[in-house]
Amino acid sequence: MKAFVMSRIGQVGIIDKERPECGPLDAILRPTKGLICTSDVHTVHGAIGEREDLTLGHEVVGVVDEVGEYVTRFRKGDRVVVGAITPDWGSDAAQAGHPSQSGGALGGWKFANEKDGTFADYVHVNEADANLAHIPEGVSDEAAAYCCDMLSTGFMAAENARIPMGGTVAVFAQGPVGLMATAGARLLGAGLIIAVETVPKRQELAKTYGADIIVDFATEDVVERILELTDGEGVDASMEALGSSDLIGQCIKVTKPGGRISNAGYHGEGEFIQLPRIEWGVGMAEKDLVTGLCPGGHLRMSRLVRLLENGRLDPTLMTTHTFPFADIEKAFHMMESKEDGMIKPLIEFES
Ligand code: ZN
Repeated sequence: MKAFVMSRIGQVGIIDKERPECGPLDAILRPTKGLICTSDVHTVHGAIGEREDLTLGHEVVGVVDEVGEYVTRFRKGDRVVVGAITPDWGSDAAQAGHPSQSGGALGGWKFANEKDGTFADYVHVNEADANLAHIPEGVSDEAAAYCCDMLSTGFMAAENARIPMGGTVAVFAQGPVGLMATAGARLLGAGLIIAVETVPKRQELAKTYGADIIVDFATEDVVERILELTDGEGVDASMEALGSSDLIGQCIKVTKPGGRISNAGYHGEGEFIQLPRIEWGVGMAEKDLVTGLCPGGHLRMSRLVRLLENGRLDPTLMTTHTFPFADIEKAFHMMESKEDGMIKPLIEFES
């Protein structure tokens, strides 16, 4: 089969690989649609260390090609979505309520990290009953592919922010995760959503997904402006969706005492994240910094596709480009540079 791999740090390409084998609890999928993620770019740039011929990708939907003998919920031919994070549900971490950290820090992140990812003709899914979900008839493959990571991570940011009904929120960066954090804040009942972004297309999408006010960091002092918009008090919750130490600092500055700073950014560079000491209340302002890794699993994915099925939002507005799998290398390099206003590139597999 064909697979799009990171041959080593900084190098990508399509190579031939063996079709994966299906264990008794597992499934093999034939992908139909997938999305390239900025974290694929981080991986290729060396954020998680060296890898050799590792298949990239973790956002995919497809058709079940084979299931193991103990799989009960799915069978060959089913149209399914698999979370980007595929935890070991029997692990102590999962039993303690942290499935994404099963098997150690970030251990639920297997695709394109500790095993081959999803940009291949066939994809192996561990614990199929627990990690796959059916796609309802009215939901397109393209829309469902956003559930894998973008909806799950963005909404997690909003859930972790514990936004009070009618509360005030600032969402820093409106890439696809930030846009879904904005959408999540609206779905959870935020009363005022301030989105920080400078790219016009992203500003426009932020408004579509629920932002009330856009703060443009290229022309305004973001901290000053957000404090002004909240009568000097700061917001109840802020979310970081870029992966920048500087933005974590700004989140702390604009969040009121007792508020939450929810991180969804992938901090792929540097040795430290720095906190502004005074605005952090010299460590005593009860401003909680919360982290999380994209939740996966059958229940999570089923809930996300239900939102799509009932028209709560349309994530496909984020698809700016479409490529056949054969051109995935080109798509990847465009994602690296975000050229041509790229937000999310959709990859179409041959059926
Ligand atoms: Zn992703």
